[in-house]
Amino acid sequence: MNAVPPPATLKSAMPADSQLDVLSCTTAAPAAGPAIIQSERGQRAVFCGLTGIVWLHRKIQDAFFLVVGSRTCAHLIQSAAGVMIFAEPRFATAIIDERDLAGIADINDELDRVVNRLIERRPDLKLLFLVGSCPSEVIKIDLSRAALRLSRDLMPNVRVLAYSGSGIETTFTQGEDACLASLVPGLAAETAAAPKSLMVVGALADAVEDQFRRLFADMGIAHVSFLPARHAADMPSIGPNTRYLLAQPFLTDTARALEERGAVRLCAPFPLGAEGTTEWLAAAAAEFGVAPDRFEAVTDAPRQRAERSVARYHERLSTKRIFFFPDSQLEVPMARFLSRELGMQLVEVGTPYLHRQHLAGELAMLPSSTLIVEGQDVDQQLDRCRAAKPDLVVCGLGLANPLEAEGIATKWSIELVFTPVQGYEQAGDLAELFARPFVRKQLLSPMLEDASCS
Ligand code: SF4
Repeated sequence: MNAVPPPATLKSAMPADSQLDVLSCTTAAPAAGPAIIQSERGQRAVFCGLTGIVWLHRKIQDAFFLVVGSRTCAHLIQSAAGVMIFAEPRFATAIIDERDLAGIADINDELDRVVNRLIERRPDLKLLFLVGSCPSEVIKIDLSRAALRLSRDLMPNVRVLAYSGSGIETTFTQGEDACLASLVPGLAAETAAAPKSLMVVGALADAVEDQFRRLFADMGIAHVSFLPARHAADMPSIGPNTRYLLAQPFLTDTARALEERGAVRLCAPFPLGAEGTTEWLAAAAAEFGVAPDRFEAVTDAPRQRAERSVARYHERLSTKRIFFFPDSQLEVPMARFLSRELGMQLVEVGTPYLHRQHLAGELAMLPSSTLIVEGQDVDQQLDRCRAAKPDLVVCGLGLANPLEAEGIATKWSIELVFTPVQGYEQAGDLAELFARPFVRKQLLSPMLEDASCS
């Protein structure tokens, strides 16, 4: 069995009479974490980056996401996001059809026609994303150039950007990464006299964003922005005085683009659970010179609330063994939370991609025997999963049903992105997400026994 280290509360992690200290992770060195890291390559079973539109269109309230794709893409988006009959939707698919494929229509003229008709009908839109997909005919279209051309025509009212949500070589969360990275070159440059500011990077539910805003304000951190902002006109400015905290672990390209503009990343675990949230806030507090007693005064009550709400699920989950298939790139922070705050045993932590610098703080907190598998060979992983007989498997939708049919409880990893889970007030909800499959199994088992008797 894995040794489960006790949660490191902030009190024990920082000296009372000095500046705040945070978990040791540097931007330059690879993780010093004790976990065993392996990689494998083979067949993968993941969703594509178009899925990100589902939460991004809710977050940026005057943006529209126009997928340039096939009927398959349209079906995916409609079934994942639902069709809003009474509201004006803010996503759609421009389907490349036979006429386009045969070269009868000029694809750029068609795109301009569709975009102009959309903007005429929807004067409320300020930001339009052209989202590429993976059909070969779409890959041939230069959507970046199309976005530049359309932006020239439609600015200052509407900015047009392009990114790819293609299913080739992506995980579904990379759609958000590509979308946010496309925003960075257009962010205003901060002035030379701009004060040091904090940018939180990653789409968060509005309620979570508001909670973090209040906590930072109570700590005395005055200049705080969020990327993406809720409206196109409110996107933050950026420069060498910008310090940024990642709120999501899958924002590799966005982080690179921010650093090219001079921003500096603050190294921290991710704000999941009481401990992760405390350490994440502590990284900002240390950078902005917040006194330890002020930090303690601001975080003590919400941290205790979070610890109490997580503790409610400890008894149900602490004896359970969990296996992660690689899907969302949230696997490592989730594993850290489940192991340290709920005592769950980590059988295998699969992740599509392991960014060793961004995850350095997380890796250092995992139990020493944790097996992390980067990449995927789905058949081999299924064999290992069946042999290990875990109590719970976190995986994509495609694997969940077959595993459930074999009697293994599953949790869809996509739920971890659709549900607000970051921060103190959501820590209990996050724990509950992992307890729910066991409750469901318990409720269903008498029914299944009856069915097998009759
Ligand atoms: S982008 Fe590719 S993987 Fe995604 S729905 Fe369209 S065709 Fe399918």
